[in-house]
Amino acid sequence: MKSIAIIGAGPVGLHLGFALLKASGFKVTIFSDRTPEQYGDAKLSNTAAFFSYVQGKEQELGINFWDDVTPRGKGIHLEAHLPTGDTIASIDAAFRDGVTAQGVDYRIRIPRWMQEFSQRGGDLRVESIDAGRLDEIAGEFDATFVAVGKGAMSRLFSRDEERSEFDRPARHMGVLLLEGQSITGPDAWPEVGFPHLRLHTIFGVGDVFSIPMYGKPGVACRGMAFEAIPGSPFDQFSEAASGDDLLQIGLDLMRKYLPGDVPEFSQATLCEPGSWIVGALTPTIRKPVGYTESGHAVMGLGDVVMLTDPLAGQGANNGIRMVHRIAEELVDLGSKPVEADWMHRAFEDYWDDYGQYPIEFTNRLLKDPGPPLMVILQAAGSDQRVADAFATAFTDPKTMVPWLRSVEDAKRFVTQAQQSASPPFRQAV
Ligand SMILES: Cc1cc2nc3c(=O)[nH]c(=O)nc-3n(C[C@H](O)[C@H](O)[C@H](O)COP(=O)(O)OP(=O)(O)OC[C@H]3O[C@@H](n4cnc5c(N)ncnc54)[C@H](O)[C@@H]3O)c2cc1C
Repeated sequence: MKSIAIIGAGPVGLHLGFALLKASGFKVTIFSDRTPEQYGDAKLSNTAAFFSYVQGKEQELGINFWDDVTPRGKGIHLEAHLPTGDTIASIDAAFRDGVTAQGVDYRIRIPRWMQEFSQRGGDLRVESIDAGRLDEIAGEFDATFVAVGKGAMSRLFSRDEERSEFDRPARHMGVLLLEGQSITGPDAWPEVGFPHLRLHTIFGVGDVFSIPMYGKPGVACRGMAFEAIPGSPFDQFSEAASGDDLLQIGLDLMRKYLPGDVPEFSQATLCEPGSWIVGALTPTIRKPVGYTESGHAVMGLGDVVMLTDPLAGQGANNGIRMVHRIAEELVDLGSKPVEADWMHRAFEDYWDDYGQYPIEFTNRLLKDPGPPLMVILQAAGSDQRVADAFATAFTDPKTMVPWLRSVEDAKRFVTQAQQSASPPFRQAV
């Protein structure tokens, strides 16, 4: 039986842990710097909505504990604005083929999964791992995976200069989990007709998106993110001293830039005092293999190797997809040792096949895709098949590459979307 160590009990580490327990033939230990109670009681530090691929994996693994209580996003309402306030595109688009987005507050999800992992025979150890301890662990276990997210240990893995397009944050964000009938009730935005992600882009200023979620302390809510282009008039979130403060800053900005959504959001309140985040991250791709003090190879996973801005909701979806591939390849490896070459190849295979696409998609949105995006939005405004294909592509970016690379590519995407059979728009209701 192979002994596997996973450092970090985030969604990526836990998905790998559950997948290996299910596969059998592995003795799996996860090291977490927090107990489940500590994680659940902490202020919000991270969050994510999962699309259908991840939801399917959670069903397979039997860890989809919130299906009955979590509101699903079934499509997107997208508006693109000029800083003057002029709206240049507005589309309502349903995800095709029953695809949904499902967000559960990590402070509910992760503690429950940690407990479940122990109950299924996994070894959950509460210990904050430093470089010296990692060296010991890597010497003791047959393979060690590092899934510490943005934790300091990610720096063990060197930055991939060729694949990292940013050397500083592309957005400064303020994130809130909000509740209230005006944003979660059956009458919220009836003109759209189904529960949806709302995405407003204000060119040159920033973005505001919100998504139906299930939040602490157990309520239907919307996860709302303000994403400011650094130095733009939106860039005020670092001044927030509390969640209520952040909400007021956000509402003031909305009054100026997005007055249409103020009636709904001004009636909403914070789910609980810790339901907010202010911060920024530098999107960074890292080399997948790092070496401990005495030279043991360890493999980075999830945000450690593919850290991306939350704008397009791709980070966790991509990291979790990656670890299911890794789990399959570990099974295929059988009794052979897990060596650095295998780690490199496993990452490169994933990157070539899928990982690069969510990263490219997000980067293009962050960098303002300009004319190619306008080609698609204009077509989407008058043709529901294009709008729905565009929305669905958010949930699986590989389906749209290379649509934003050039105007010609965008036109090809439009033609393909028009030719493909699409279910009637309102079917998502
Ligand atoms: C505001 C926001 C919104 C987002 N929205 C989305 C979205 O809608 N969809 C999406 O796909 N992604 C989204 N993301 C990204 C997503 O949250 C991350 O990609 C995902 O959580 C990464 O998972 P991970 O397990 O790699 O890292 P993490 O979730 O960061 O988990 C790492 C864990 O390791 C622990 N740890 C750290 N250091 C150590 C140590 N030394 N020893 C032991 N344990 C350690 C940490 O405490 C943490 O629990 C969002 C991110 C943010 C910030």
